[in-house]
Amino acid sequence: MSASLATVSYIGATILFILSLGGLSHPESSRRGNLYGMIGMAIAVLATVFGPRVSMAGLPWIIGAMAVGGSVGIYAARKVQMTQMPELVALMHSLVGLAATLVGFANYIDPIAALNLSSAEKAIHESEIYVGILIGAITFSGSIIAFGKLSGKIGGKPLLLPARHWLNLVGLLLVIWFGGVFLHTESVSAGMIPLFAMTAIALLFGIHMVMAIGGADMPVVVSMLNSYSGWAAAATGFMLNNDLLIVTGALVGSSGAILSYIMCRAMNRNFISVIAGGFGTSSGAPAASSGDAQQPAGEVVAVSAAETAELLREARNVIIVPGYGMAVAQAQHTVYEITQLLREKGVNVRFGIHPVAGRMPGHMNVLLAEAKVPYDIVMEMDELNADFPDTDVAMVIGANDIVNPAAQDDPNSPIAGMPVLEVWKAKTSIVMKRSMASGYAGVDNPLFYKENNRMLFGDAKKMLEEVFVALKA
Ligand code: NDP
Repeated sequence: MSASLATVSYIGATILFILSLGGLSHPESSRRGNLYGMIGMAIAVLATVFGPRVSMAGLPWIIGAMAVGGSVGIYAARKVQMTQMPELVALMHSLVGLAATLVGFANYIDPIAALNLSSAEKAIHESEIYVGILIGAITFSGSIIAFGKLSGKIGGKPLLLPARHWLNLVGLLLVIWFGGVFLHTESVSAGMIPLFAMTAIALLFGIHMVMAIGGADMPVVVSMLNSYSGWAAAATGFMLNNDLLIVTGALVGSSGAILSYIMCRAMNRNFISVIAGGFGTSSGAPAASSGDAQQPAGEVVAVSAAETAELLREARNVIIVPGYGMAVAQAQHTVYEITQLLREKGVNVRFGIHPVAGRMPGHMNVLLAEAKVPYDIVMEMDELNADFPDTDVAMVIGANDIVNPAAQDDPNSPIAGMPVLEVWKAKTSIVMKRSMASGYAGVDNPLFYKENNRMLFGDAKKMLEEVFVALKA
């Protein structure tokens, strides 16, 4: 393939990526957006593999590597449960970081990459390598820890080392200092020492940064690492002089940053305090010990599926609030069957989606779209929070933190200040979950003890099937 054809293909792929992002901004156009993205990526890969910068001799290696990587990808995508998606995404971000780090080292060692460069060009080239490896290593180790936290292999509690901000500051100063040393070395072997030292610091920083983040802040961290992986890819693009990689990386980096901002705003959190870690902990104390106010007392009232069906049958307005438990139980299809049945009976049924429901941004929207729930009855939290007082039944399906009134009432709560869906303002709220266990943030939920609340204990899918049968009868 000639260089000009490769360039045209790159421009085409860039346009498709932008159209893809545009499409993904709305559920109705998201399938089309995904398609654009897939076509764009296919063009990008083909134009690179068959482009002017790959020799015929290198082709079998690339095809072999693509076959291995592609097979692992297909296997992982087929095997992964919907509830494991966030972990898979975190793992994939780590691979982008690892790739950027390895490309950085390879580029530095490569004698041809720096051939015929003036001293100014050499400094720029080496700065790109240094920054690329830095971002790549932070993304790599941070994403591995995020994977561990999301999959439950590492506890969700923030690890707060003494003087942690000072540790970070010292790390930053060392990275700057080693950068200066690196840029002034003459030989590759001498440059390796500061490069390795900086990589070690960056890896430790990534681990420390995500370990310090408390349970409820994880959504922001997931999207932040998404953004980092974009910047790592862009840095790789600079190192390899690949325009498409720069543009694509910048698109991912900036959209991830915008998403982080949106998540922060949705949770009423300040971006800097998220990075600083330890959400809801005062003076470095662990979240669980912040006072008696979080220990609601009282009795819970359990109901059966038949009683739930009865409440739904008598309702005029119903709001369904899905959470992580709906994903675990894969209850979305049964939820929709019940929705259809109620709508046929003239009940006004709507869904209330919290921005951080589930374990990844848009988690609930994806599940409801899969079950073919019409988009016009799927509302964002802000769109219907004011409607709860006029609602007969608020049905909470496997959600916990996102409907916790302590976020509003208890300033000592680890999730104080996080906006929540005010289901307790409905005439009756019904919470479907298996036990009294807490959610991701590990906080007790006073909603369960409210007078107008009922608990339907059991697996969400099983209970909903029973409700469906009772409703039809
Ligand atoms: P939560 O984690 O607060 O609660 C989920 C509840 O579902 C649990 O209390 C559990 O209770 C119940 N559950 C689990 N399995 C089942 C089942 N099979 N059937 C019925 N119920 C079940 O989820 P929410 O969606 O309310 O809140 C999301 C939380 O996750 C927030 O704290 C958010 O910050 C965090 N988070 C969000 C991310 C995102 O990007 N959206 C990313 C990372 C974290 P029980 O065990 O009793 O059944």
